[in-house]
Amino acid sequence: MSTSSIRTTCCVVGGGPAGMMLGFLLARAGVKATVLEKHADFLRDFRGDTIHPSTLELMFELGLLDEFLKLPHARVDHLSGQVGDATIRVADFSHLPTHCKFIALMPQWDFLDFLAEQGKKYPAFDLHMRTEATDLIEEGGCVVGVRAKSPEGEIEIRADLTVGTDGRHSTMRACAGFSVEDIGAPMDVLWFRVSRRATDTAETFGHMEAGRMLVMLNRTTYWQCAYLIPKGGIDQVKAKGLDAFRDSVAFMSPFLRDRLGEIKSWDDVKLLTVAVDRLHHWHKSGLLCIGDAAHAMSPIGGVGINLAIQDAVAAANILAIPLREGRVSDALLAAVQRRRTMPMRVIQWLQVQIQNNVLSAVLTSSARPKLPFAAKLVNRLPLLQRLPARIIGLGVRPEHVRTAEATPTR
Ligand SMILES: Cc1cc2nc3c(=O)[nH]c(=O)nc-3n(C[C@H](O)[C@H](O)[C@H](O)COP(=O)(O)OP(=O)(O)OC[C@H]3O[C@@H](n4cnc5c(N)ncnc54)[C@H](O)[C@@H]3O)c2cc1C
Repeated sequence: MSTSSIRTTCCVVGGGPAGMMLGFLLARAGVKATVLEKHADFLRDFRGDTIHPSTLELMFELGLLDEFLKLPHARVDHLSGQVGDATIRVADFSHLPTHCKFIALMPQWDFLDFLAEQGKKYPAFDLHMRTEATDLIEEGGCVVGVRAKSPEGEIEIRADLTVGTDGRHSTMRACAGFSVEDIGAPMDVLWFRVSRRATDTAETFGHMEAGRMLVMLNRTTYWQCAYLIPKGGIDQVKAKGLDAFRDSVAFMSPFLRDRLGEIKSWDDVKLLTVAVDRLHHWHKSGLLCIGDAAHAMSPIGGVGINLAIQDAVAAANILAIPLREGRVSDALLAAVQRRRTMPMRVIQWLQVQIQNNVLSAVLTSSARPKLPFAAKLVNRLPLLQRLPARIIGLGVRPEHVRTAEATPTR
C-alpha cells in the first residue's frame, strides 16, 4: 500500500490544550499548522475542566472572551476546603488584575471544540482527527516530520518543525529518546460524577479525612468528583466493595448520600494515574515538546491545562515569525524551553511540597487530619488568600499573545 504525504510548516502532534492552542495561534499568524489528534473527537472525561484567569486573559487578548464565555460554564471566585472538621478558605480570585476574576469550570471538550472552530477560520489551520503519529522521520540527524496512521491508511507529514503536544505518555518524546526526570506522585485519582441539585452548595471544594480526600467540581448539572487514594491503592479500595466506597464518599459529602446509587458499578469510577515528571531537554533539531509531553503536572491546583496553554503561547510568540520565514533554529527551540522552564519548575516544586508534606500524610494516616498553622493563618487573613489565588490563577510569569493576526479569516 502506498503512503501518502503531506507537506506543512509545523506539524503539531496531539490535540489537547497545548496542541490546539499552538495550532490555532500559528494558523492565526499565517503559519501552516497541521494538528494530528488520534481520537475522533475531544469527548473524553479525564482531562480536567479548569480554565484559569490566565487562559481567560489570553482569550481577552485574542478578542474571543465574550464568545468564549457564552459556552456553558460555572464560575469559581474562591476555593474552600475542609480538613477534618475545620473549614477554610484557601484562595480568593476576586482581586486578580485580570478581566475575569474567576476560574471557569467548563468541560475540556467544549474548550477544545472552541479552539478548533476558531482555528478553522484560518486557511493555514489543518486539523486531522483520528490520526495517530507513530514515529518520527529523521534525516541527517534532524527531525523532518512524522509517520502516522489515519483512516485513509499510513501517511507521512513532512514539516519544518514537529511539536510534540501528545501528553504525559508522549510517543514523540519516546521516539526522540528524550530523557525524563520522574518526580513521582504519592496518589492516584478515582474520577466519577454524581448529579447536582439546584439546592446543593455552589462551591467547588476539597475535603480531607484520614486516608482519603475528595475534591468536587461544580459542573452545574453534576458534580465531577475526584477521590484521592494512595498510589497503587485501587485494588484495596475495590476489595472493600462498592458500598464501602459509596459510604466513604457520603461521609465526606453527606448531601450526596441519596444519589450515590448513580455509581452503579466500578465502570462508573475511572482510575487516573497521576504522574509528575519533566524532560531534561525539550528539543532537538526539528522537534520540540511542550505541555505534559515536556512536563507532566500533578492535578494539584488544576493548573496543568493552563500551563500547557502558556507553553503554547510562548512557543507561538518565539517561533511564529521564524517559521513563516523558514528560519527556525535549535537556538530558538532552546529559547522556548528557557522561557518556560522557570514557571513550570516553580509550580511543580509547589505541587511536590503539597504532595509530600500534606497529601502523603493525609492518605497514609488513620488519624483525623488537623489544620496546619499556615492554613489557619490564610483562613484568618483574607489578604493572604490572594497569594494562592495568584499562583493558581495566573501562575508564574504569565504569557501574553504577541503574535499578530496575519491571515484573512475564511
Ligand atoms: C486526574 C487528573 C486530573 C487533572 N485535572 C486537571 C484540572 O482540573 N485542571 C488542569 O488544568 N489540569 C488538570 N490535570 C492536568 C491536565 O490534564 C494536563 O496537564 C493537560 O491536559 C496537559 O495538556 P496537553 O495538551 O499537554 O496534553 P493532553 O491534554 O494529554 O493532550 C494530549 C493529546 O494528544 C493526543 N495524542 C496522544 N498521543 C498521540 C499521538 N501519538 N498522535 C496523535 N495524538 C495523540 C491525546 O489524545 C490528547 O488529546 C489533571 C491531570 C490528572 C491526571
